[in-house]
Amino acid sequence: MSNTVTIRDIYPICTAPERIPLVIVKVVTSEPGLYGIGCATYTQRWMTVAHAVEHYMKPLLVGKDVTRIEDIWQMAMVSPYWRNGPILNNAISGVDEALWDIKGKMLNTPVYNLLGGKVREAARVYRHADGRTLEEVGDKVQKYIEDGLQVIRIQHGGYGGSRGNSYMESLRPEGACDGAYYDPLGYELSVTKLFEYMRVRFGDGIEFCHDVHEHLDPINAVHLAKELEKYRPYFYEDPLPPEQVDWFRTMRQHAAIPIAMGELFNNPNEYMKLISERLIDFIRCHVSQIGGITPAKKLASVCEAFGIRTAWHGPGDTSPVGHAADVHLDVSSWNFGIQEWAGFSDTIKEVFPGCPELKKGYVYPNDKPGLGIDIDEELAVKFPCSEALPQWTNCRRPDGTLNRP
Ligand code: MG
Repeated sequence: MSNTVTIRDIYPICTAPERIPLVIVKVVTSEPGLYGIGCATYTQRWMTVAHAVEHYMKPLLVGKDVTRIEDIWQMAMVSPYWRNGPILNNAISGVDEALWDIKGKMLNTPVYNLLGGKVREAARVYRHADGRTLEEVGDKVQKYIEDGLQVIRIQHGGYGGSRGNSYMESLRPEGACDGAYYDPLGYELSVTKLFEYMRVRFGDGIEFCHDVHEHLDPINAVHLAKELEKYRPYFYEDPLPPEQVDWFRTMRQHAAIPIAMGELFNNPNEYMKLISERLIDFIRCHVSQIGGITPAKKLASVCEAFGIRTAWHGPGDTSPVGHAADVHLDVSSWNFGIQEWAGFSDTIKEVFPGCPELKKGYVYPNDKPGLGIDIDEELAVKFPCSEALPQWTNCRRPDGTLNRP
């Protein structure tokens, strides 16, 4: 027993090199110099996750054997009794990913080898092209094609693009609340035109996906799916909010387009029915939001049995550590589909040495032991996180009604 390596300390590191709050968890072991890091990033409530790491995960887990990842995950999940919420799932993920990182370092091998080994050398990625006009979106697509990308997400005027600010103002009733206003009708009409424009300009050889961001009423989301069918989208993302998943059955009956769903899911009960009834084609969970590598690997295996591929959520509010974890899952999961890729600035790469590298539309895992990525803590504290509340989630319809963001 004297050889057992145990957890000596657990603490959160909060940093915002690109002004997006990121939460990293560091697990320090009893072995001098041996530690791991994991992603616990829930940008919109980062202080609450950091508090949970410091005041609950640390006292629960200090002294535990670092090799017992599964037992620690299960214990951290049931210790609070109420479970599967976004705050604690992220806190658990931070520790879970750090433990996989530690185990890789102990065995001197990358995490993908612990997950079954590579089934591909790199993960194909998609990136975001957005713009105010069709030409502007098209020019960004052109640039990505020149960079070697094969799949590109196209958005026109962000999520739920509008018919111009002054027009949107004219629709509002007097005294309406401030908020991030959007226009469901203008949006629905613009997406079909966007796909038509891209197919005319770029032909059939490029894949395009689109994110609805739960901005339509269910039947309108079904209608738009039918409209887009002829443009053969790579996938149609989050067309419905998690509260309306039963509508996927209706959508399936009307349009043969691949559906990607799930960045808002926290609890297995939210996705198991969609998977077992084959109502979606890509599972899109935010890996830290479901509790880290341990549940994500199991989820990928369940999806494999039902012919569903993975497309883990990977925007700027997934930390580089979270991105690294995603890539280890991507290269070792047979039913991997595609990886969303936000890209890293030079500042991010300095704060997080060892970021996975993007080359010609593919991202490569770092081949160092563990997750292969680190954090420069002294530099990280120079980019403090803002305590300001998010504004974009205060999403409203033209008549002032609050909508799902
Ligand atoms: Mg999305």
